Amino acid sequence: MKILVVEDTRTNLALLTRMLENLGAQVIPAETGQQAIDRFSGHHPDLILLDVVLPDIDGYEVARQVRQAEKSDHWTPIIFLSGKTGDADLEAGIAAGGDDYLFKPVSEVVLGAKIRAMQRIVQMRTALVALTQQLDSANRELQRLSSCDGLTGIANRRSFDEALQREWGRACRSGSELSLMMCDVDYFKRFNDGYGHQAGDECLRRVAAGLAGAVHRSTDVVARYGGEEFALILPDTSLGGALIIAQKARQAVRQLALPHTGSDHGQVTVSAGLASLIPQPGQNPGMLIEQADRALYRAKHAGRDQVCKYDPTLA
Ligand code: GH3
Ligand code: MG
Ligand code: MG
Ligand code: MG
Repeated sequence: MKILVVEDTRTNLALLTRMLENLGAQVIPAETGQQAIDRFSGHHPDLILLDVVLPDIDGYEVARQVRQAEKSDHWTPIIFLSGKTGDADLEAGIAAGGDDYLFKPVSEVVLGAKIRAMQRIVQMRTALVALTQQLDSANRELQRLSSCDGLTGIANRRSFDEALQREWGRACRSGSELSLMMCDVDYFKRFNDGYGHQAGDECLRRVAAGLAGAVHRSTDVVARYGGEEFALILPDTSLGGALIIAQKARQAVRQLALPHTGSDHGQVTVSAGLASLIPQPGQNPGMLIEQADRALYRAKHAGRDQVCKYDPTLA
């Protein structure tokens, strides 16, 4: 272990160096406060043995600066070793960031025992930091999994609901248009019946990827709404703009060219309903879903594989 020994009296420094080397440590010497701070940054010691009275800044100030310079997940034990033996001196050392305070002179046995105790704390702390990091990454993974659809990997219903609520509020505050596309795979029951459920699942994965490839803004959300229904939330997008995206998404599914003999179109297609509005206070996002659903219903009845806009006069 590397120990930074801060001691301005040469004879004391030589004595301490010998003791510590006997204990198997590597000594980095510093004879002034500034040297101590520089060597702390340059050598990253495992422990600091710190005198209080130094020719420039005192040991308390060194401890304070070391604590400031330390990286957030790092901790270097500081043991004060001083000829100042009053209670107030000890108290000031701990307040400045020290972990222990020994009075000079100190025996090799006491010094060795104190260093071992600090090493034990360092080991426990390191294990705790590693565990915390593991927990953090497990939590992030859980967060990701809880917002993803298990089959297709795109946003699930839960994150769709959250995103729609969030974007609704945002659009309401800013007075911007919010568009929603609801889409549904055509004749999917027949697809399952004809090709089996596993092929059906694979088809849903491919459709999801095709739809996801059709949107590019980071604020757009492509979600699996349920079963073989998907939704695209398009914030800050007018009906005209949303129509272009919706056609692109429908085409993307066509371009997958997945054969579907049970469909009038001979391949897997989707129908989509599109609605767009500027949310007003007192309204709720359910209204936008309902409008998009109505438009989807019309797309189905008009022959599928197409996009219909919500039209209040036809509702
Ligand atoms: P339409 O063109 O009118 O939408 O007809 P459709 O057959 O697609 O509509 P319907 O709602 O009758 O059928 C949807 C089917 O989607 C029924 C169900 O078996 C299937 N489905 C829903 N979720 C899944 C899934 O996760 N995997 C598979 N393989 N099939 C699913
Ligand atoms: Mg001194
Ligand atoms: Mg359906
Ligand atoms: Mg369907």
